[in-house]
Amino acid sequence: MSLFALHILASGSKGNAAIVEDTSTGMGVLIDCGISGKALIERSEQCGFDPCKLQAVLITHEHTDHISGLGVCLRKLAKSGVNPTVFAQQASIDGSNTLRELANNHDFRTFKATEDDFVLAGMRITPFPTSHDAMGSCGFRFETETDALGFMTDTGIVTGEAHEALRDVRLLGLESNHDPAMLRACAYPAYVKARIAGDGGHLSNEQSAAELAELLSDRLEHVAALHISQNSNDYRMPGETLRAAVTRASHPANVHVAYQSKPITIR
Ligand SMILES: [Zn+2]
Ligand SMILES: [Zn+2]
Repeated sequence: MSLFALHILASGSKGNAAIVEDTSTGMGVLIDCGISGKALIERSEQCGFDPCKLQAVLITHEHTDHISGLGVCLRKLAKSGVNPTVFAQQASIDGSNTLRELANNHDFRTFKATEDDFVLAGMRITPFPTSHDAMGSCGFRFETETDALGFMTDTGIVTGEAHEALRDVRLLGLESNHDPAMLRACAYPAYVKARIAGDGGHLSNEQSAAELAELLSDRLEHVAALHISQNSNDYRMPGETLRAAVTRASHPANVHVAYQSKPITIR
């Protein structure tokens, strides 16, 4: 039986990277690469994942905190003979000098979040559109015959397609970016606050909990709160807010929080 593990190496506005591993093969796919090559290798190993088993890199969107380390990480992996294919939406490549330059020198493939699904390392991967102020933005559903995992970060609202794609998964990574009161009170300029709270920004703890309440299937076992803001949230509230939604429904799912500076694994 093949089961997934989700290793969240870093999550937040200072850098994002996560690995979906098929534990029956040890093969994995990296979602985003906004961390250094050193952090990618060290944190993978801390999670018990061999970075040489990376088959591909999937890009959710072209914002710097999701791609800034891609070039150095690809070069570092290449030194070990590992050359994962990068999957990105054409709009993300067009919207990013970094991605455009890398696409000239590495194996890149494009997909459309609304249409394509593809198979990588034995996992069926279905991208779905998110609502974010990037040129192209999406989340991913991963599926094998025996397991399913959903991953969504950087979205101001939960789109209908996203909700459908996240249903009936066993493992779920779900953005829980900010507390609205802390966001209002924090030092960001007004336009930044409006951007974060808007439809093209990020999910609040409450929005995340409301979506989680709709996703409490018989299959769901673990949820990780993603992209927690260090200025308009803390590492306690997302867990409490999501846990409250789970408790209200008397559901047995476990709630975890992902950090900026240390990795976690849910499996
Ligand atoms: Zn981000
Ligand atoms: Zn973003």
